Amino acid sequence: MVVGLMAQTKKHIETIATHAGTKPEAVTGAVTTPIFYTSTYAQESPGVHKGFEYSRSHNPTRFALEDAIAALEDGPDGTGAAKGFAFASGLAATTTVMQLFGQGDHVVVCDDVYGGTYRLFDKVLKRNGFQFSFVDLTDPKALAAAYRPETKAIWVETPTNPLLKVIDLTAVAEFARAKKIVSIVDNTFATPIFQRPLEHGIDIIVHSTTKYLNGHADVVGGAVVARDPALIERLRFLQNAIGGVASPMDSFLTLRGLRTLPLRMERHDRNARQIADWLTTRKEISKVIYPGLTSHPQHALAKKQMSGFGGMISCEVAGGLEASKRLMTRTRIFLCAESLGGFESLVNHPAIMTHASVEPEARRKLGITDGLIRLSVGVEHVDDLIADLEQAMAG
Ligand SMILES: *Cc1c(COP(=O)(O)O)cnc(C)c1O
Repeated sequence: MVVGLMAQTKKHIETIATHAGTKPEAVTGAVTTPIFYTSTYAQESPGVHKGFEYSRSHNPTRFALEDAIAALEDGPDGTGAAKGFAFASGLAATTTVMQLFGQGDHVVVCDDVYGGTYRLFDKVLKRNGFQFSFVDLTDPKALAAAYRPETKAIWVETPTNPLLKVIDLTAVAEFARAKKIVSIVDNTFATPIFQRPLEHGIDIIVHSTTKYLNGHADVVGGAVVARDPALIERLRFLQNAIGGVASPMDSFLTLRGLRTLPLRMERHDRNARQIADWLTTRKEISKVIYPGLTSHPQHALAKKQMSGFGGMISCEVAGGLEASKRLMTRTRIFLCAESLGGFESLVNHPAIMTHASVEPEARRKLGITDGLIRLSVGVEHVDDLIADLEQAMAG
């Protein structure tokens, strides 16, 4: 019923997040989708069933999550044509999408991608005959320069991790359309609350739902969304053929998490803006990178294509490696941990932690210095977060 209503009338993103994907369960009227822990479904006679055959292919809990993520990415102005697919991890989602391509195909990738994505492309898919160019796509001319006749796709993260570079989604989508190749955006950092790549003409969206979408630091998961019917059919086939699907329990938890996504993103964004401003006043910090600061090189673009700047801040500690490590061992609220996007504040050292799989030489070229730390600003009270950083810097 709710789903039917959603299709008829335009709804705001908060309302979509609250209801999308779920309708009262058929037998009892339960308002949340139950966790359908079953591997298979009884058939009346061979081939006669209710549309559910085997849980890798069909699972009602996973379907509810997939519909919700698709509705969020489709957005209030969407056509309703978006379809979502949920995976066991962000990298399982990425692996599946990349099987749209094959041996000899070339993919242009933004240089500052998530470390695990870089490792998958560089260490695994290259061995399968894929070719990659990792280029700085904040330079509008870089895309055309990297393009070759065998280029089949463009892979973009924006904002990037950890340098928070912002890439022009409309320009990427237009280039891909002109060349008849596939544009893919990892929307993990911005989430559909702040950025909807489909509205810019991007073909495929990838998420690590481990991060903001679930938001509670208790699930590893991934998702893919597309609007084009041919791409949807290919992705549906690949999800089932490769089999890296999200479990019923993880689907349930992620669906529960994303109901509060707009609320959480609002707070992450508000806290991060204040903390970024505060960090710029500190002598212990030599550089603050946050798309919401006017000092950010792509601040104007971020303002244009995002409706919020998000909860991620990177900054350079003036004393380099030792000073940054010292700060990170002294925070009490900011936990030193990998990952991001949960309700709790985390601090990460990219060179040692998340981006250790990127060679030191490549890291230096990108600007991931030994003094760089990345904050995932949580939903705590901002005064407590600032006080925590302040005491960690003192003495
Ligand atoms: C974490 C992350 C991934 C990988 O997702 P997993 O769920 O850890 O497999 C991909 N992209 C970005 C931007 C991420 O932060």
